Amino acid sequence: MSSRADRLAERLAERELDLMVATNLVNVRYLSGYTGSNGAAIVGPDLRVFFTDFRYVEQAAEQVPDFERVKGERDLLGDVAQRLRGRVGFEDGSMTVRAFERLRGLIDDEVELVAAGNLVEDLRAVKEREEIEAIRAAAQLADTALAAVLERGLAGRTERAVAFDLESEMRRLGAEEPSFPSIVASGPNGALPHAEPTDGEIPRGVLVTIDWGARLDGYCSDCTRTYATGDLNGEAAEVYETVRRAQASSSDAVRAGAGGKAVDAVSRDIIGDAGHGDHYGHGLGHGVGMEIHEQPRLAPTSEDTLEAGMVVTVEPGIYVPGELGVRIEDLVVVTDDGREVLSGLPKELQTV
Ligand code: ZN
Ligand code: ZN
Repeated sequence: MSSRADRLAERLAERELDLMVATNLVNVRYLSGYTGSNGAAIVGPDLRVFFTDFRYVEQAAEQVPDFERVKGERDLLGDVAQRLRGRVGFEDGSMTVRAFERLRGLIDDEVELVAAGNLVEDLRAVKEREEIEAIRAAAQLADTALAAVLERGLAGRTERAVAFDLESEMRRLGAEEPSFPSIVASGPNGALPHAEPTDGEIPRGVLVTIDWGARLDGYCSDCTRTYATGDLNGEAAEVYETVRRAQASSSDAVRAGAGGKAVDAVSRDIIGDAGHGDHYGHGLGHGVGMEIHEQPRLAPTSEDTLEAGMVVTVEPGIYVPGELGVRIEDLVVVTDDGREVLSGLPKELQTV
């Protein structure tokens, strides 16, 4: 884990920061390896300090060997404040206003707190090899779980029953938890991108969108497939094919150096040309890692540029209000010479 703190320390100089204090537990875990629920870390060019309270002292001794370890009070800010000096970056995206005010009251006058933006999140966006392997394993587990659920069919079961089945299957296969609440949305419910599964029975002859993921070894997967439960009307099949083409073309556009806005535009042009521009209201994709939504973003407003090692979703969709929805989502790794798709399930329209 020390190499991550080293990389952060290098970035501090670029931002004219002396230290960075991490209190967001995801960032603390990323930097230090600590998985407990109370911890903080300070990183500087020559400083690696980790703070936790007595409950986690033994755990930290095992997980955080590369940091000086401090046993503090339950509220760690007082202990953290004592070690701050100079210009100190803090996580303005996640620190609460209350914690910020409290920290400001605890530091002495020579310490300046500076909003660090996405300093650690930007590091997290470019994955190490082991992180990609963890995400790959999570994606494979999720694929296996859905395949098992589909064997039991979709039509005649409720959306909630299918979602529950899928989540228990993921846990049975060893997932820590689903990486987010599973979406199972049939017929008109599919027109809601973030539909919650209902107690309604899934009928025959409709589309069913399933968006699910597993968390394994601290890393998330994210995938969406849309299935038919019988013969579809012409529009549904046509919408499906449009989304499939948009997904394939924008996935092919993922490569190092490509802009998040440009890759998004590939999908948006295809869907727009098919007359569904107004039915595609969300961005094409997002980074995935320790959290389900991370940097970078693939979207019309994105200013991110893809780099080798980033893991992003490619998930265009068409949502026709009151009628139907289709989304197809893959997890894609940006590689040195292109991309690798981690989601293994077929994308041709399948009838379940
Ligand atoms: Zn998803
Ligand atoms: Zn997603």
